[in-house]
Amino acid sequence: MPEPTLTIRTIIGLEIHVQLNTKTKMFCGCPVRYDAPPNSCVCPVCLGHPGALPVINRQAFTHAVLTGLALNCKIARHTKWDRKSYYYPDLPKNYQISQYDLPLAARGFFDIPVRGRMKRVRITRAHLEEDAGKSLHDLPGCTLVDLNRAGTPLLEIVTEPDLSSADEAYAFCIELQRLVTYLGVSEGVMQKGQMRFEPNVNIAIRCDGREYRTPITEIKNLNSFRHVRDAIAYEARRQLTAWTEDHDYQQDKRPNENRGWNAEKGITEYQRDKESAPDYRYFPDPDLVPVEITDGMLDEIRAMLPELPIARRQRLVSEYGLSTRDADTIVNHRGTADLLEKVIAAGAPADVAGKQFVNVWLKLANDRNVHVTDLGVEPEQIVELARMTADGTINKTAANRLAQVMLQHAEPRASARADAQRSTPSPLHLAQELGLVQVHDTAATEAWVEQAFTANPKAVQDALGNPKKAQAAAGFLRGQVMKLSGGKADPNLVVRLVEKRLAKLRGKG
Ligand SMILES: [Zn+2]
Repeated sequence: MPEPTLTIRTIIGLEIHVQLNTKTKMFCGCPVRYDAPPNSCVCPVCLGHPGALPVINRQAFTHAVLTGLALNCKIARHTKWDRKSYYYPDLPKNYQISQYDLPLAARGFFDIPVRGRMKRVRITRAHLEEDAGKSLHDLPGCTLVDLNRAGTPLLEIVTEPDLSSADEAYAFCIELQRLVTYLGVSEGVMQKGQMRFEPNVNIAIRCDGREYRTPITEIKNLNSFRHVRDAIAYEARRQLTAWTEDHDYQQDKRPNENRGWNAEKGITEYQRDKESAPDYRYFPDPDLVPVEITDGMLDEIRAMLPELPIARRQRLVSEYGLSTRDADTIVNHRGTADLLEKVIAAGAPADVAGKQFVNVWLKLANDRNVHVTDLGVEPEQIVELARMTADGTINKTAANRLAQVMLQHAEPRASARADAQRSTPSPLHLAQELGLVQVHDTAATEAWVEQAFTANPKAVQDALGNPKKAQAAAGFLRGQVMKLSGGKADPNLVVRLVEKRLAKLRGKG
């Protein structure tokens, strides 16, 4: 008997919680702060004292509508608040204010690039709710509760099960983070738990003309992109094994379950069977009035929509000729992309400026764990560096060094901006001072070539007579010439003169 052929399809939907960037909590005036001492940002409303009345945070509401619009959702004209009941130590009210049957935004889509193509992921809904506090298990034998986070605004975004691999889910999460930070609705910092992902995963197995579907697993509370990818990949494999061992491991025969990701062991672990909506006893919150959204409000919020990251990336490629990869890197941070466009508008050649952003400025910024916009280098200086590189005043290596020196001049300015402004030397002045201005002088370059050839007879021999090593040896000689020139030689001229010299020697031999 031949083995039956199996076709396996992974089915993934995502639930994402995004912590919204507001000064105060969702339904009270307590400040939203991550660094405050435990239980210092609390009041009767977020502590759930009887008789305390919640009031909606307008900023959170605006952020939620803006995100809904960016995700191409229909925005509800009438929306309301519901109580979702559950008992948990860090939920002092014993219910969470959420939105059940009338979410703020629904039926949208988000197009993301996957393997060079755009993939549409449908958005089921996006609604506002409040977060719970935090249970801390730092002390042995007891659990501490910090309610600073209780009542802070959360946007829950739910997708249709349109994703079909761990990598697609990974790409989606990254694009979503980029979107919310672009919109300014969230800082989207994973380490602070500002975005949390819960993939719903199951697999469809086609075997001998029949399709089997495994029960859906919800993987709870993932707070890094890598965990999302690894947990989904593991879970798909686990479900296939479970089905292979027991063909009754199927929807309707086995319950859906919640599982947690154990990053250390690289496995998902069973937590509990999944609750269904009736278990939460949703009912409308009697303390909050429904919200009516007018045309005027909607227009006002729509006007705040910036150019979105995916569109911007495509434009940087088509308008400025950047590579997709460079555009992707630059668009990652809105301020950095803004700065690039600013320097291009001010006269920096787009291709050189784009490359320098990625290879020079972003590297320097990453080393310091800041954004390019925080480096303190003036846009005019960035323009000049790109211009000098483009017109051959300096070569790429010199540009790198010059940028570092510019940065040393810029850094003290962060503290004494106005003062130092006058004394900041121009990049050209610095290049001259440091002797980085490129030498186009043929005679001088020929002298360096001569010197390099005399000092490295072995390399010359290889370049001439050893076919296996010829290329590497010629490269080595060019490097020696650049070195002798102190990095100032024009690399194109060096290539020509080294070749010319080798040809001459070949002629002699
Ligand atoms: Zn409060």
